[in-house]
Amino acid sequence: MIENATLRDDILPKGARVGACQDWSSWAKETIGDGWAAAGDAAMFVDPILSTGVTLALQTGHRAAYTWLTQRARPDLPAASLWRAYSDYLRGEYGAFLTLARYFYGNNKAAPSWWWTAQQLVNASGRLRLEDRQAFTMATAGFFPVPRALGAGAEVVVPLIQGITGAADGLEAIYRDTGVPAPEDLSHETYSLVAPFRLDLRTEPGLERGLSGRLEVYHDLVTETPQMSHRLAATPARIDPALAPVVAAMRECSDVAGLLARARALLPARDPAALRGAVLGIVRIAAMKGFIRLEGPRESVSLPLEAGACA
Ligand SMILES: Cc1cc2nc3c(=O)[nH]c(=O)nc-3n(C[C@H](O)[C@H](O)[C@H](O)COP(=O)(O)OP(=O)(O)OC[C@H]3O[C@@H](n4cnc5c(N)ncnc54)[C@H](O)[C@@H]3O)c2cc1C
Repeated sequence: MIENATLRDDILPKGARVGACQDWSSWAKETIGDGWAAAGDAAMFVDPILSTGVTLALQTGHRAAYTWLTQRARPDLPAASLWRAYSDYLRGEYGAFLTLARYFYGNNKAAPSWWWTAQQLVNASGRLRLEDRQAFTMATAGFFPVPRALGAGAEVVVPLIQGITGAADGLEAIYRDTGVPAPEDLSHETYSLVAPFRLDLRTEPGLERGLSGRLEVYHDLVTETPQMSHRLAATPARIDPALAPVVAAMRECSDVAGLLARARALLPARDPAALRGAVLGIVRIAAMKGFIRLEGPRESVSLPLEAGACA
């Protein structure tokens, strides 16, 4: 058909003879509203460089349907929080793919550096036993590292992902806790915030808990930073919602001793020993998720430990 055609250089700017279009990712300002929720391309579209569109359309459509069924089955739960968990999930799922797509177009396209970027997304805390290439496979397969199965459940997805990543251990055990001290060793630590986070509802398919057709709902630390929210799935943690004021206070504190003192002031009716254990547990979870960075014990403590700057 183009045997007699000539290539023109008077159409594109600066005499260019070949045009290309790249990174046409887009996202809706709002993905949920009164009586509606967006899924698939209507919510967010990531440049198809990673061929993620159909997976994400199916996953988010599935999650929207299950969120609706959960809302109907659990009128005790605040519907707005349930749908906010849905939009957190959307942002997390798309955010990492968007990061990878942007990296591809903006940087050195050598495959190993792309894999390394996936390692930062899937494994920012460095606690998964993963090669960069395995991290890339996991990221592009939509596995981070809790299987996000559609209906069929973990018995289908786990062997599949295990096969493609070459992970020797059970995938549920791939997350290692080492690197974050045990709760009782955290009381002298200082920390800095890496990403803003809050205590809010989180949802996951709960088939293994017999929740066919709806989601398991619990309170966990969640963030709106896309690259970090992606890693929410790494460590589902169930946190008592009454501890929300302590989580909010973490933003104002930079040392665990001060936070413990603040927690006692915020929740005076609580048993002190139990509260201390719960607060140290939250600090550990925040560190494991990568929302805070532990900076080590304060070198010279001029204030009594129990009266840190935030108390
Ligand atoms: C060039 C290109 C290459 C791609 N390559 C891949 C790939 O390799 N792998 C991959 O997984 N994904 C790929 N994608 C992305 C993928 O096609 C989409 O992400 C996916 O189809 C989104 O599904 P969806 O159901 O959200 O939206 P859609 O598939 O767009 O479905 C929306 C439907 O709604 C209909 N509609 C719109 N308005 C109305 C209305 N008012 N009333 C009734 N119906 C309406 C539309 O006609 C359409 O049928 C690619 C996309 C493009 C453009």
